[in-house]
Amino acid sequence: MSSSPLLLSNPKLLSTSAYLNGQWRPAISGRVYPVVNPATGETLAAVPDMAPDDTQLAIAAADAAFPAWSRTTAAYRAELLKRWHRLLLKNEADLARLLTAEQGKPLAEALGEIRYGASFIEWFAEEARRAYGDVVPAQEADKRILVLRQPVGVAGIITPWNFPNAMLARKMAPALAAGCTLVIKPAEATPLSALAMVALAEEAGFPAGVVNIVTTRNPAPIGEALTADKRVKKISFTGSTRIGKWLMEKAAAQLKRLSLELGGNAPFIVFDDADLDAAVAGAIASKYRNAGQTCVCANRIYVQAGIAEAFLAKFTTAVRQLRVGPGHEPGVDIGPLINEAAVEKVESLMHDALSRGASLALGGSRITAGSLFFEPTILTGMTADMQMAQEEVFGPVAPVFIFSTEAEAIRLANATDYGLAAYFYGRDLSRVFRVAEALAYGMVGVNTGLISTAVAPFGGIKESGFGREGSRYGMDEYTYLKYVNIGLDAG
Ligand code: NAP
Repeated sequence: MSSSPLLLSNPKLLSTSAYLNGQWRPAISGRVYPVVNPATGETLAAVPDMAPDDTQLAIAAADAAFPAWSRTTAAYRAELLKRWHRLLLKNEADLARLLTAEQGKPLAEALGEIRYGASFIEWFAEEARRAYGDVVPAQEADKRILVLRQPVGVAGIITPWNFPNAMLARKMAPALAAGCTLVIKPAEATPLSALAMVALAEEAGFPAGVVNIVTTRNPAPIGEALTADKRVKKISFTGSTRIGKWLMEKAAAQLKRLSLELGGNAPFIVFDDADLDAAVAGAIASKYRNAGQTCVCANRIYVQAGIAEAFLAKFTTAVRQLRVGPGHEPGVDIGPLINEAAVEKVESLMHDALSRGASLALGGSRITAGSLFFEPTILTGMTADMQMAQEEVFGPVAPVFIFSTEAEAIRLANATDYGLAAYFYGRDLSRVFRVAEALAYGMVGVNTGLISTAVAPFGGIKESGFGREGSRYGMDEYTYLKYVNIGLDAG
């Protein structure tokens, strides 16, 4: 691996230390690990490879900072969040460059992610001031009943590599707005975006100990340290269902509060009466964004028999236009996959489908042998017995299934253990309501392939987890209700 400098206009954003108790510092062990650009294989930087001893320092700092931070006014916390929001937008070009370099997505998508992440910080700066409790009519004349909303305490935050900025922003903003202090563990592959966000949080003025971040390439001991420590009151995790279940088992020993944003297997249904051009545009946005590496990606495309041929013709023509290449090059739509294992998983799912009778309508190979760039691919003749019907593809492969009736579409769409996002296109108003209500998912897009926004509750059901991010419900994850019953004297 060679090394190439990443030129940023604000060099402070390329941090190679972790941040604990207001100090930028190395791992206690002195160990580091390399962060690699998936488009080129070049090393971008080396960051601390931390362990449980570092994590315990971070927890101690967050625990010590909690009493004072939780007693600050909502207006003060809102002001710091707003400052942080302004700094993120001021530095958006650098943050996007950093994100593309370590994660691979096209620069325009990276910029979109920075703005999307920042929108949560702005939203929760506003929500902080509206974290109302209740005054409840008491059951007795000499009683007064209050319901207070209080911060849960130290929150452990664990995030994935596919949206290294936004997944963190979606958790940090409501937690800080609520008055929690944080120990963050970003994904191994993409720590630089997280460290840059923390550098800007420091500049915004969050007090020492409120935000702490540990980087590592060995996540399980950190997960153990966070779940085993009684000072950590909450774990908020975005990642795979497998690790979500592991964390839930570990957190069960202390009945720790949990939010789990896990994997998905989104159906994307196109009914006979759909606007086909809109459906094609929606399918492309949903399927190929971030090279198909999003939890809400269309994972299974179901097309009604009457329009299947017309849809496929338009879809194939449009997908053929997508340009694959390094994310920093202009005009690129699809960057590399995150690593070799991701490409091998896509290949294995594709070969399973082909061996069971699917056909390749487009793509199907790496752009060049050994690279992490994969062609935008369309498979037809898909059936429910293929692995791709059950597993997250997490790559630029669109499997197309054909169905006949609305009931069949709903049955097939719901035949999965996941329940994150679902999409459908159709214009019959009654059907829009029927299908939206029948889909067993936490989020449904109707005539749109893009559903994520700070103003709406993002989250899943079934094995896609629980808890909601964004919206007026988002702070619920970081607060608990305390009821206070006040007895009055006779006067
Ligand atoms: P992952 O392997 O579960 O990793 C997610 C995070 O957990 C990473 O920071 C990882 O560290 C860490 N981790 C792994 N094992 C751990 C352990 N034993 N204890 C504590 N932390 C541990 O998932 P991923 O492959 O990075 O991300 C892709 C998955 O995330 C997909 O399933 C996708 O659908 C899901 N996702 C869900 C949402 C949502 O909102 N529902 C959003 C985005 C992504 P390392 O990086 O070091 O492995």
